[in-house]
Amino acid sequence: MKTFYIETFGCQMNVHDTEKVVGALAARGYREVDSPEKADLVLYNTCSIRDKAEKKVYSRLQQFRREKSKVFGVLGCVAQQEGEQIFERAPHVRLVCGSASYSRLPELIAEIEQGRERVTGLSLDAEQTFETPYARRRSRFQAFLTIIEGCDKSCAYCVVPFTRGPERSRTSAAVMEEVRRLAAEGYTEITLLGQNVNSYRDPSPARWDFATLLARVAEVPGIRRVRFTTSHPADFTREIVAVIEEKETVCNHVHLPVQSGSDRVLARMQRLYTRERYLECIGWMKAARRPIAITTDIIVGFPGETERDFERTIALLDEVQYDSLFSFKYSPRPNAPALALDEQVPEEEKGRRLRILQEYQRAIQIRKNARLVGTVQEVLVERFNPATGQWVGHTPENRTLNFTCAGSGEESLLGRYVNVLVTRSGPNSLAGESLTGTSPAAPDAGAGLGAPPTNS
Ligand code: SF4
Repeated sequence: MKTFYIETFGCQMNVHDTEKVVGALAARGYREVDSPEKADLVLYNTCSIRDKAEKKVYSRLQQFRREKSKVFGVLGCVAQQEGEQIFERAPHVRLVCGSASYSRLPELIAEIEQGRERVTGLSLDAEQTFETPYARRRSRFQAFLTIIEGCDKSCAYCVVPFTRGPERSRTSAAVMEEVRRLAAEGYTEITLLGQNVNSYRDPSPARWDFATLLARVAEVPGIRRVRFTTSHPADFTREIVAVIEEKETVCNHVHLPVQSGSDRVLARMQRLYTRERYLECIGWMKAARRPIAITTDIIVGFPGETERDFERTIALLDEVQYDSLFSFKYSPRPNAPALALDEQVPEEEKGRRLRILQEYQRAIQIRKNARLVGTVQEVLVERFNPATGQWVGHTPENRTLNFTCAGSGEESLLGRYVNVLVTRSGPNSLAGESLTGTSPAAPDAGAGLGAPPTNS
């Protein structure tokens, strides 16, 4: 039996694409191994959203440049972006396949097996989504589920429309069938995925919009939590908030990337909304009957961003009081329209703004998390951290909660829903003890949100 190793870079869409690739390879008789050294086929599922991720992929490939006995493949966004140039930079690579062509992957692997030296899948014309009955999910109780692929927007800093192609939604019937199957297999938490998840439009005559799909998924027996990411502010509707209000199963957390608090920068970024429109969405959530945690993405140092623009972003943090955020320095990407913009912000200044932003947000998170001490939170238990002796899970608001549970040594809590009394808080996580537990816990031992959401 042939073996393969796959490493994933980037967002949750990539993590789930890898699960589908793993399933497709297993169906062809391949067995997954845990290191490239042990594998016949080595795949890198890449991300090109930031320069750093792309560099990492090439550095991995460099390590094996003299290796003749293995087949190397590059998948995902870097594959799409660089295309056949990858063969020039890393001549030992034999397979290059962009995410819009994943449905052709089994066929491409078959060609390699038949002895073809190099194969590529780089078409962006694909009208299909990567539908496969084979996805091998890493978790037994949490499932990602793609409902829409690609992107029809054209944010100036982003390569996704180029690397993932135009938007293609799956039919509501296909999504519902997969959710029911997952529920029957014991999955209780579903995360609906899309580059712009709320731009979902059912291509079948049923014509469900995203809010309708979300409500129907939340009603499937056996499903206890539904999450979705990433939402685009221009397509965010009051109906989505109404579904969160009505359906306890839908987690009360929305990731709504703003990128900048300045209208001038938003226009240069081609984000298709203003600060006012964004704050209208925030207003719907703040007025909701259930409290809704709000997180975001911010880019600092976009070309032309002035000190005044940056201050508008800081003022937005003040106004929204985000529960958490992902922040980045702008980095120019090949094929992204922003490449042509002048008025680049010096690296040092970008670094200064990023530090200010992160310190500001850290203070907000310390305050907000401290308010939760003494409350009881429901946690879906995801793993045990042997280094700290704590279980780790997330609350419906997507806060990381590390906790102890007396007497749980023998019995695994993985995949279970546990009520935890919050006893301490840190900037990035909470700590506590299950209501049956007694031992104290330290905050921030297992913080983090894992793979970032998709780039919207
Ligand atoms: S940032 Fe999101 S919405 Fe904008 S182009 Fe990229 S994927 Fe599309």
